[in-house]
Amino acid sequence: MRYSKLFIRTRKSSPTDEQTVNAQLLVKAGFVNKLMAGVYSYLPFGLRVLNKIEQIVRGEMDAIGGQEVLLPALQPATNWQQTGGWDSIEVLFKIKSRTGKDYALGQSHEEVITPLVKSYVESYRDLPLAVYQIQNKYRDELRAKSGLLRGREFDMKDMYSFHLTQADFLEFYELVKKAYLKIYSRCGLEAKVTEASGGGFSNKISYEFMVLTNAGEDNIIYCPDCNWCINTEIAKVKAGDNCPKCQSGKLKTARAAEAGNVFDLGQKYTKDFDFYVLDKNGKKIYPIMGCYGVGISRMMATIVEKFHDDQGIIWPASVAPFQVHLVSLSGSEKQAEVVYKALVKAGLEVLWDDRDESAGTKFADADLIGVPVRLVVSNKTLRRGSGQVEWKLRSGNKVELISEKEVISRLTA
Ligand code: ATP
Ligand code: MG
Repeated sequence: MRYSKLFIRTRKSSPTDEQTVNAQLLVKAGFVNKLMAGVYSYLPFGLRVLNKIEQIVRGEMDAIGGQEVLLPALQPATNWQQTGGWDSIEVLFKIKSRTGKDYALGQSHEEVITPLVKSYVESYRDLPLAVYQIQNKYRDELRAKSGLLRGREFDMKDMYSFHLTQADFLEFYELVKKAYLKIYSRCGLEAKVTEASGGGFSNKISYEFMVLTNAGEDNIIYCPDCNWCINTEIAKVKAGDNCPKCQSGKLKTARAAEAGNVFDLGQKYTKDFDFYVLDKNGKKIYPIMGCYGVGISRMMATIVEKFHDDQGIIWPASVAPFQVHLVSLSGSEKQAEVVYKALVKAGLEVLWDDRDESAGTKFADADLIGVPVRLVVSNKTLRRGSGQVEWKLRSGNKVELISEKEVISRLTA
């Protein structure tokens, strides 16, 4: 991608109406643009990051047998009335049509997926089953002040599974937990798994996946020695106590962002929609459901909260908008184009800053945007031989002069 052709611009200063680092940096660096509180447009760089995270999530959901669908965001009120959500869910956006009919914007999709699966599944032989989607969710959040951490429109992966027995459900539940930990680690994040109550859904146990960050809105208590972790909201322990699991660790408190969670929904929705299958003996079974969410746009924000410095964002390679940020300084454009084409031909994702700007401006933008590798082609590098470029990692200071071939081999290794 050639920088000179992009319609977006980085900003010289941080937006004054944003309080969190994620929103300040993502807006300043031109990844997103705020339409109103909690609602953002994704610009070319931002969309590339979002797509990368989505691809990681998709891969891990496919690997455990999830089937991807895309469900409507606009939904009839009747489905929500059937489960009681219409009156009980405060964040539900409600829309009145000019025909007088009521609609809701999906804040989660149990009300759509349950009747959908019911319409296809007839026999116990059709279960178990796991269906997921990656889609915008709409929630009338009161405090949408944390940038992409808390949107009123935000990107989520939500999966729903249907099982004949509790044992089968628990087996799948464990599989999803493992897949989630893989997702976070592939995105450069370390998540702690808390034990939490099932929220409004049931009194069953659920798990939250918490990433430690001061920008997060949750408080957790965790053991630094073992994996034990709990949300302070429901905790009976406090900082300094001995860990109830390993007994030896001293519990600590931390701020965290919930990057995902998994719920045991029991038979709440299958009963609400009268969705049952007949077992071998012709007996009715209401399937047990699980639901599993990953906050994709919240993860993007969490990554920025964790990986930045005073100059800008430092993307982990797995979710970076580009693999390489190529900077050409004046007089070296022709040579830079040769390098650019060679890298693109090798299948690399390259942002080429080919603008007529000063070296200072270009370097500042490279640091702000945060692509993991910066390459510079200049008269200085050209004097050292054609095809020589300066290689520098965003996360370090070391500058090396290497050949274009070496760049390709390092990045395709
Ligand atoms: P929270 O307690 O943070 O409001 P939640 O319990 O309402 O989250 P779920 O309904 O289970 O969350 O949604 C699944 C995931 O979607 C969450 O774990 C979180 O990562 C993400 N998420 C939830 N609400 C938002 C939001 N308003 N903006 C961005 N991401 C969100
Ligand atoms: Mg919520």
